[in-house]
Amino acid sequence: VTAGAGRTRREAARPARQEAKRPARQETLRRHNLALVLGEVAVHGPLSRAQVAAATGLTKGTVSSLVDDLVAAGLVRTLAPTRGAVGRPGNPLALDPGGPVGVGLEIDVDYTRVAVVDLTGDVRQRRVEVADHRTSSPEASLASAAALVRDVVHAATRQGHAVAGLGVAVPGLVDTKGLLRLAPNLPGWESTPVLSVLHGHLDDGPDGLPADAHTALDNEANLAALGEQWFGGHPDLRDFVYVSGEIGVGAGIVTGGAVFRGVSGYAGELGHVPVDPDGPACGCGGRGCLEQVAGQEALLRAAGVPVDAGTTTAAPDGSVATLRRRADGGDREALRALEAAGHALGVAVSALVNVVDVPTVVLGGLYAALAPWLRGPLTAELGTRVVASSWAPTQVLVSTLGPDAAVRGAAGTVLRHILDDPEAYVPAPV
Ligand SMILES: [Zn+2]
Repeated sequence: VTAGAGRTRREAARPARQEAKRPARQETLRRHNLALVLGEVAVHGPLSRAQVAAATGLTKGTVSSLVDDLVAAGLVRTLAPTRGAVGRPGNPLALDPGGPVGVGLEIDVDYTRVAVVDLTGDVRQRRVEVADHRTSSPEASLASAAALVRDVVHAATRQGHAVAGLGVAVPGLVDTKGLLRLAPNLPGWESTPVLSVLHGHLDDGPDGLPADAHTALDNEANLAALGEQWFGGHPDLRDFVYVSGEIGVGAGIVTGGAVFRGVSGYAGELGHVPVDPDGPACGCGGRGCLEQVAGQEALLRAAGVPVDAGTTTAAPDGSVATLRRRADGGDREALRALEAAGHALGVAVSALVNVVDVPTVVLGGLYAALAPWLRGPLTAELGTRVVASSWAPTQVLVSTLGPDAAVRGAAGTVLRHILDDPEAYVPAPV
């Protein structure tokens, strides 16, 4: 789900007359080969120029020229030579953490989180604001989110980074045209043009986004799943369901390394799979949906923990931390609520696994924080209910990115855009 960046940086920077001088095929070839070399360094680096040539099938001369361009653009850097290497291996090449960065913004029901992520996947800046978006208008929420983005853009620019774009994660249904259609837990957010409102706040001024910024909007569970896949330290993770527990519950379904979105972009609404058809009413119009039984506020209420503002999973003194402390101390009410939530989660996730047939479930957000108590009942339900479980048992992993998963995935969409087509960042040959 991408709002196009319009003219690329190079088109904007270069006069049209110069464009006409170069044969089209040569242009296309160079563009393709820049992406090929950068992709090789990104996936398999650090690598020598000779290793890149061998892996890509390009001549060493071509690789050297392309690498020089990528180094000049701040996309690739040369590391100190490995000691004890035989022959003349040359300085190994790796992605440049000082190069362009992506900004990730997550607007969830009760907080706003922003991170700046460099090409190597490291977080350079981070801001978190506890804010209950149910009690403010979309306009007011987006204005304060934009102020947080300006703050990190300012800080990243001072560190010498070029900001390449903004990825935005929201807790609702994002259609294939980039419109937030509906956020079941945010009543005022219907058909909200999130990106164009943010552009209105961010297109001007020194701490705004550059005119050619790449911007994208997606569901937070989809982006958290991608963040986990790209930066979570699971190199073999290609087919899985990422279960995002917050006030709402969502799933990012990934098959063959790509998010499964459904026809209109709305797939993965795990939170509205019924686990108790006669249960409490839900914002979606149904009853007894998973998130009414095992979402953050439902779980806290069942555990007898006061629900207050600042209940985010990240808050050290928030309600979720209180729940953990009580469970650690053996509090019966807390343990009973966690057990019940784990079973409800297992019922819903089993239904999903039976339908989509993926081998791995990754617990994220609230469910990562509470995994020690949820894993047992969840695994029991999967073992009982997943039809193929006796020869294809479902593996349950816990998110390694915790509350950063969605912002890192959101920023990652910008970084992916650079890696897929770096030419816009590389100065044109003379
Ligand atoms: Zn529902």
